[in-house]
Amino acid sequence: MNAEREERRRTMLERKKARAQEEQRNIAAGNPGDVDFIGMVREWRAAHADQAQPLDAGPTAPPKICICVRKRPISDKERNKNDHDSVTCLNPEVWIHSAKLRVDGITKYLDHTSFQFDYTFHEDNTTEDVYNTTTLPLIDFVCSGHGGRATVFAYGQTGSGKTYTMSGIQNMMCEDLYFLLNSADSACTKENTNVMVSFFELYGGYVQDLLNDRNRVKVLEDGKGEVVIAGLTEVESYGPETFLEILRQGNSARTTHMTEANDASSRSHAICQIMLRDAKTNKLKGKLSLVDLAGSERGSDTKSHNSQRRAESSDINTSLLSLKECIRALDRDASKHVPYRGSKLTLILKDCFTSDRAMTTMIATVSPGASAADHSLNTLRYADRIKEKRSTAPTLSPRPLATTRRRRPSAMTNVTKAKAESPVNEMRTSQSRSMAVSRVEVPETTMANDDLDLAEENQSRPESETADDDLLFSEDEKEEPAKDEELNQTVRELFEEEEGVLNMHMTFIAENAKLLSKEGALLQDVQRPNVSDEEIERYASMLEEILDRKEDMIAALQRKLAVFESHLEAK
Ligand code: ADP
Ligand code: MG
Repeated sequence: MNAEREERRRTMLERKKARAQEEQRNIAAGNPGDVDFIGMVREWRAAHADQAQPLDAGPTAPPKICICVRKRPISDKERNKNDHDSVTCLNPEVWIHSAKLRVDGITKYLDHTSFQFDYTFHEDNTTEDVYNTTTLPLIDFVCSGHGGRATVFAYGQTGSGKTYTMSGIQNMMCEDLYFLLNSADSACTKENTNVMVSFFELYGGYVQDLLNDRNRVKVLEDGKGEVVIAGLTEVESYGPETFLEILRQGNSARTTHMTEANDASSRSHAICQIMLRDAKTNKLKGKLSLVDLAGSERGSDTKSHNSQRRAESSDINTSLLSLKECIRALDRDASKHVPYRGSKLTLILKDCFTSDRAMTTMIATVSPGASAADHSLNTLRYADRIKEKRSTAPTLSPRPLATTRRRRPSAMTNVTKAKAESPVNEMRTSQSRSMAVSRVEVPETTMANDDLDLAEENQSRPESETADDDLLFSEDEKEEPAKDEELNQTVRELFEEEEGVLNMHMTFIAENAKLLSKEGALLQDVQRPNVSDEEIERYASMLEEILDRKEDMIAALQRKLAVFESHLEAK
């Protein structure tokens, strides 16, 4: 008996020592976070490293809608806060390793959630990798002279790398755009095409011209349904140098303001548009829009006490939800209505959704830190909803890249292995579809239902209010949105209610976990030798309290669920 105990103690001491050594090694390597979780993530990665596919094993023709994820490296700031890297990109999958405690309140474990996209870029992938894979095909598409509308969105939490990625893309595309315009066999050449650039920010419902001293300009829609931004500057770019200078000017107008107004960049959408116009007729031959979206976490920031912030968050919320719907609508039958009037952002980008020659790329950026895991999961859920339905490239196929230009050299570091050959992969793919929260099906044409954090408060805002006073609608265009709005309204209500249930369920789980740890501690305490009668009584009364609390929570959740189910059935 004594020997056994002695042995146990020795093993425990050895483990403790090994753990301390590992912790020191992690700190020396710049990873001061939780040693156990770091170790578990490392082990998981070692077991799965060979699952990643090379980036060029992606779709052969550029998809009409390309959804990808970029994870940035962990920052010094995160390390200093003892945060650890909890995201793994194994192209085309991304995994979030959420740190959890078992009900005993002591045992740690990881909860792995995966999603699959067209591509996922890990922390060692360069912006050039992202650009080559996602944006380069769009430049060919826009320059083919058939009026193609290509749009690249950067979506994600503030600090996740949207601007970093977008500004890199802006710089790289400049070289390739002029490479194509200088090619003799190109449909758009420097001789027959004018390159016009506009750069503006959508901030608190206003459009501000970044190329004209942040001048406020109005969005108008004429009787023919054309959306125009009246008075927006379009600067002509004559070559790569002017192009970069224009971008520099726009970006600096953005950042100057940012310091003045407490990171306004996270609360605004920045839109850079490059229009290729016929030199003679001024007709649009192609358009590329690069959109650096407002921080997605703003969508959930509705609890702020500041009413301006709340209104901003609400506005961002609406625009991000509308955006998702519009991109989803792109995938559907072209005759179906695109709810672009749902927000000013989507109204401005109307032609990117309604043109039959539209291609869209969404780059969802995620921070690697465990502390950002919930936001990262929300970002991935948002992106996941968009890519739910797939379609192939529009009838106008972009020209093969190799014949038009040199492809940038790649610094990809993904390990290769054919995915289809791996049974483990098949298993993981199906696993990636099974999310922790069960879903309620809503009609196809309506709002998605999983924006747990996004849909908080502003979904009840009727579309007529969302559309600005300064818009001029033609009479016959009002009908269809009204019907659409009715449907949207119903779904929004359901959506809000569903969210209420989910939120309550999540609170329940969190509180339950706390109660379970409390119970564990209570049990441990009462099992000590020589426990007094008083202590046992205390144990009994506390347990009773805990059970009562649980009973209340279950009853409340059951009531809410029952109401929701009855509404779901009725609607
Ligand atoms: P966001 O625009 O999403 O708020 P930023 O692009 O400003 O985020 O990035 C936040 C910080 O992270 C910046 O300091 C940026 O330089 C850095 N960063 C972002 N992505 C990367 C990356 N892929 N590699 C290295 N640093 C990055
Ligand atoms: Mg930014």
